[in-house]
Amino acid sequence: MKRWLSAILTFVVCGLSTGVSATPSNDESMGLRLDWLDKGISSAQNFYAFANGHWQQQHSIPSNYSRWSTISILDKKILQMIQQMLIEAEKNKSAKPGSIQQKIGDFYFSGMDEVTINRLGIAPLKSEFDKIESIKNIQDLQAVIAYFQIIGVDSGFNFGSMQDFMNSENMIGAVEQGGLGLPDRDYYLKEGKKFQQVREAYIRYVTKMFELLGDPSEQAASEANVVMTIEKTLAEASMSKIDQRDPHNVYHMMTISELGKLTPNFSWPQFLNTIQLQGVKRLNMGMPEFFKKWNALLQSVSLNDWKIYLRSHLIQSFSSFLSQAFVDESFKMHSIITGTKTQLPRWQRVVSTENHVLGFAIGQWYVEKYFPASSKKQVLDIVHNIRNVLREDLQTLSWMTPETRKAALKKLDLMSAQVGYPSKWWDYSTLVIDRGPYVLNVKRAQVFLFKRDLHKIGKPIDKTEWEMNPQTINAYYNPSMNIIYLPAGILQPPFFDPHYPASINYGSIGYVIGHEITHGFDDQGAQFDGHGNLKNWWKPQDLEKFKAATQCIMEQYSQYKIDDDLFIQGKLVMGEATADLGGLLLAYRAFHASTAYKNAKRIDGYTPDQQFFLGFAQSWAENIRPEQLRNFNTVDPHPPAQYRVNGTLANMPYFQSAFDIPESSPMRSQHRCVIW
Ligand SMILES: [Zn+2]
Repeated sequence: MKRWLSAILTFVVCGLSTGVSATPSNDESMGLRLDWLDKGISSAQNFYAFANGHWQQQHSIPSNYSRWSTISILDKKILQMIQQMLIEAEKNKSAKPGSIQQKIGDFYFSGMDEVTINRLGIAPLKSEFDKIESIKNIQDLQAVIAYFQIIGVDSGFNFGSMQDFMNSENMIGAVEQGGLGLPDRDYYLKEGKKFQQVREAYIRYVTKMFELLGDPSEQAASEANVVMTIEKTLAEASMSKIDQRDPHNVYHMMTISELGKLTPNFSWPQFLNTIQLQGVKRLNMGMPEFFKKWNALLQSVSLNDWKIYLRSHLIQSFSSFLSQAFVDESFKMHSIITGTKTQLPRWQRVVSTENHVLGFAIGQWYVEKYFPASSKKQVLDIVHNIRNVLREDLQTLSWMTPETRKAALKKLDLMSAQVGYPSKWWDYSTLVIDRGPYVLNVKRAQVFLFKRDLHKIGKPIDKTEWEMNPQTINAYYNPSMNIIYLPAGILQPPFFDPHYPASINYGSIGYVIGHEITHGFDDQGAQFDGHGNLKNWWKPQDLEKFKAATQCIMEQYSQYKIDDDLFIQGKLVMGEATADLGGLLLAYRAFHASTAYKNAKRIDGYTPDQQFFLGFAQSWAENIRPEQLRNFNTVDPHPPAQYRVNGTLANMPYFQSAFDIPESSPMRSQHRCVIW
């Protein structure tokens, strides 16, 4: 269930997190959590630990989580609320067949029907395995690879729609690299004991999967090595996450015949025919070098080995929705990567899956019940204030030439915000859901999602489309739209509460908004103009100065060591860290410019400025397992929570004067990075 093919820039790592509207508080001091502070830690040594130390001590990570944070707590609460809704739908005998009530109820029923799931084992997928078995030549192989795209099995690459980087009014088709079972190429290629252990565990896991499919042990072990060999070759040919950050690197429009020349062993017309997308003349080829290698493998790897590889990918895609033995093995592998000790209860896994595949149906119900219109208005006010501050900053930035300034102001004026939920809801009428088998409901949902996405290709963009469900605790900026999106899920404590003091609302949701707006001007987003087109609008001398600022942040974060052999990848996180610094600064200035600031009071001795910075730090309260920290450090462009807080504050003189941070403190950068 992955999808890339767009350049969206998020606030936290994309996942299945969902939010809950907690009851608004009436206590003005709420929002600033004095009981979370660890006053035994110096705020000048480690502000994150000072702000969250007691919270961290009191919130050990539950065995079935890889991290535990303020977001995880909300996430779990909403899943429980959604579960209640699903149970109600499941019990509703009068739901009309084909209605959304029937689909929501039946999906949940099939997922909870453990007895049937265990009785059926692998049987529901028999026809899919038969397709692999019947491959006789390279044309058959290609047909199965194409079919697997439709049912959501990654068999070497991913296909989908994206907004054209160069013509943001149009949706185009795009292909990107894929084909790996582990989370990233680094897991295959990096030296060091810990990555090696993951590779060994992966071979054991794939072996076990083949055994569960009925293969004798010795055969299963040799099959696992075949899978590993193919994936390692694909990993070597893969573009790194760092290189993918530059939109120019992943944009290569090609005609179908040019694609044919790049990959002569693969017929794109046949592929487009199978997925029913005839008539497309050009596609974006994301990673040409990867596809050259993949093309060579189509010929050099035997058909028999390709069958082994496809069986492995088919079973890996669906194992979580099959009988217990498959679920257990799949969890064991997940556990190696994330450090999670025990499985989540079945209901929670089913609700998470359903919340993904039927996310906008659940979201419609969610916002009707839990998202007050007054929140939307108050948040839009904060957005307005932050934009004003940035407009002033852009007007007065001393280093910017008039031409670049004019273009930057234009981009800001064209930027808009969507708050809460999309203006149009999804139509699920073509999706068939019944009472089981569960895995077939999941498969049909995948087909529905794939076809819905495909339907956009070759058409003008739909500005009402959202990339995230409204119940998601996250936010994003889409540079091709030049729009920031703030789902209802994040517009609640600890990020926002209508009754919080303004210091806390600005330090948390204000910072989130500033972060997303800054994405329009970070090293990635700044390459798109106000109309969402990839087009340079910077004068060379301005661009040079701007690059020096983001370079400064890259160097700062590269110095943070998070494990014996592991540093933060500065080049991977520089965009997010830039958005953090720019965003917090904008939020601070907007707070000072607000009418609420004039009436701001001390709370328990803490000044409004101190409250602002504590509010910021406390929205990041978290404990995380070392394995998951390593995983995120490899795949996630966001720095770990502690460094998002301390790394950002070290560049903020306002913070340093608010807390009297001495010259030589680690909470003060020796080379301060300045965005604006
Ligand atoms: Zn971001």
